[in-house]
Amino acid sequence: MSKELTLLLSHCLLNQKIRAGRVYTPRITQKLLGILSRYPVWLEQLPCPEFSFIGEREKKPKDAWEKLEGFREHCSNLAEKIKEGIRKLEGTNAELLLVTIARSPSCSSGEVYWGKKVIQGKGILVEELEERIKLNLLEFDFRRVSWSLERIEKYLKALG
Ligand code: SF4
Repeated sequence: MSKELTLLLSHCLLNQKIRAGRVYTPRITQKLLGILSRYPVWLEQLPCPEFSFIGEREKKPKDAWEKLEGFREHCSNLAEKIKEGIRKLEGTNAELLLVTIARSPSCSSGEVYWGKKVIQGKGILVEELEERIKLNLLEFDFRRVSWSLERIEKYLKALG
């Protein structure tokens, strides 16, 4: 691999216990780590903004999280800490890839639930991170696991 890559992984990719509504999709972590173990990449597991704010919870759309007092500030604080954590990579040839989660009100990079509708938009933590760090974004969709894993592997292969 000619370019150094650090993968910032949304927390639930490696720890599904913290997903909202106790949703669980079998064997994802095993398959993902199987792919990642074939490439020399740095891995950083990001904190789960929702779990670290309120613990176990039911699913809520982004507008509900926006109204929850202190949540955006919490994401902003997390983004600052994440930025500090990856500061050591400054000045290197490192590329940062954030693996986001499709439709998550906190961690999506494409669409989010707003009320009952799905609209274009990013999750609150992703917005706060992008204000501070230059990131490449690649979305993982728990409803399309094979497709998501193939995209990650294609990205890794393309780095050479
Ligand atoms: S998508 Fe983000 S907020 Fe939701 S469970 Fe995963 S890490 Fe937590």
